[in-house]
Amino acid sequence: MSTAVETQLLPHWIAGEPRTQSGAKTGPVTDSATGAVVARVPFADEELVQQTVAAARLAAEDWGRMSVAKRTRILFRFRELLDRHTDELARIVTREHGKVLDDARGEVTRGIEVVEFACGLGHLLKGEMTSDVSTGVDAHSRREPLGVVAGISPFNFPVMVPMWMFPVAIACGNAFVLKPSEQDPSASLLLAELLAESGLPAGVFSVLQGDHATAEALMAHPDVKAISIVGSTPAARSVYETAARHGKRVQALGGAKNHAVVLPDADLGLAADGIVSAAYGSAGQRCMAISVAVTVGDAAEPLLAAVRERAAGLQVGPGSDASSDMGPVISAASRERIVGLIDSGVAEGAQLVLDGRGLEVADHAEGHFVGPTLFDGVVPSMRVYREEIFGPVLVVVRVDTLDQAIALINAGPYGNGATIYTADGASARQFERGVEVGMIGVNVPIPVPVAFYSFGGWKDSLFGDLHMHGPDGIRFYTRGRAVTSRWRSRDTDLGGGESMSFPTAQ
Ligand code: NAD
Repeated sequence: MSTAVETQLLPHWIAGEPRTQSGAKTGPVTDSATGAVVARVPFADEELVQQTVAAARLAAEDWGRMSVAKRTRILFRFRELLDRHTDELARIVTREHGKVLDDARGEVTRGIEVVEFACGLGHLLKGEMTSDVSTGVDAHSRREPLGVVAGISPFNFPVMVPMWMFPVAIACGNAFVLKPSEQDPSASLLLAELLAESGLPAGVFSVLQGDHATAEALMAHPDVKAISIVGSTPAARSVYETAARHGKRVQALGGAKNHAVVLPDADLGLAADGIVSAAYGSAGQRCMAISVAVTVGDAAEPLLAAVRERAAGLQVGPGSDASSDMGPVISAASRERIVGLIDSGVAEGAQLVLDGRGLEVADHAEGHFVGPTLFDGVVPSMRVYREEIFGPVLVVVRVDTLDQAIALINAGPYGNGATIYTADGASARQFERGVEVGMIGVNVPIPVPVAFYSFGGWKDSLFGDLHMHGPDGIRFYTRGRAVTSRWRSRDTDLGGGESMSFPTAQ
């Protein structure tokens, strides 16, 4: 089936306006609920990357010198526009990604929170000052922008993840080039329009549509000073290595396999509610999704029953339908991969409690739907335990003690998030200190830090040292400068004459 909408070629956003690129290599953008191609996305080539970075570099010179007050006012206006356009952004996300509208609105809100954080720029960019570090000598430090910086974002949060990056980068005085996911690229264009409407000068924010080759060209460009990526572990690792080889600072957030540990003393109703929402929300396509429930001792049977009952009752359908609890996954290829992993779980002897394969949604035969799937009796050697499924599949691993649960988590390669459900403070404290992950929840299913803290994992979930947004975001997008100054004054005898010895404080 072919309509005018289906063949729309999406533009880039360069030097303050949309730019269509005829003759470029393109990829399809699909409506995940119907499987229909709704647009085509161009893949920027090296020449377009050069043009975009040149425009961004020019813009960064003035933007980095603009007063903190003026930059902040633009961010405040952007925040208001985002508020007014939340539903529009959410509808775009739902159409291409597939998540239900409420979830998409939540993603926009979490992005707005980063803009609100960045609006505190006047405070965040404060340096340090010490007078009289030596006789008649003062010292101060400040944070300065890097110039042009770039961000590469994943499909699963087409609004929120770019907004973990660019509000902070721009606030700090940089020009930002976004390479969104080629699977759901449209939201980035509305963000660009809203930034322009806020008064952001042309070239300070650009969108370069593209695939990994576009990302490669950005990483190789000498005028791009920093690269942020959020994506799968192989992509994050590759970007970290490549961009570092080109001499750039990098923050590279990768994949995850997040565990929820449930102790027998926990409020099991609360735990089941939280685990079901974190495992199946957004069809399991969240980096902080709970994909493993670890039951300790007697928690197993009642928790499994409660999770099963809730998961079986979830309504699966198009994200735009208010009665849907869960939408489709991003693509037909993703659905095939997830179904293949469920097959592997059955073949390796896990007990399939709920089977989401073969789910049919009325009038959406070509949509990328997989139903909620639940495995019991899973052991660490199985693929469904080892691999990031990134779909609506929850596996249950039974252990006898909290020590075993902690050891299980620490034996895995990922370290994004983990959560514990318990009524016992000492157990929570042992867990919080014992697991090797970056973000911990206690009786909270998805412990995503608020914008004024930083977001990031450990181990194979993050390459680089700084996390995103919050204080780490400010550090990542600025470089420090320390100034030592001496001014002659009437009441200070500075002495004089040449000295060949290394200066020390006097
Ligand atoms: P992906 O790795 O396929 O792609 C992410 C982005 O990187 C896309 O823009 C893509 O074009 C680009 N890319 C892919 N390979 C690249 C390469 N070799 N070099 C440069 N760029 C490359 O990921 P996805 O399927 O879009 O997103 C899902 C993945 O992202 C999951 O693994 C999920 O856990 C992860 N994720 C992690 C976090 C986090 O905070 N750690 C947050 C969201 C998503």
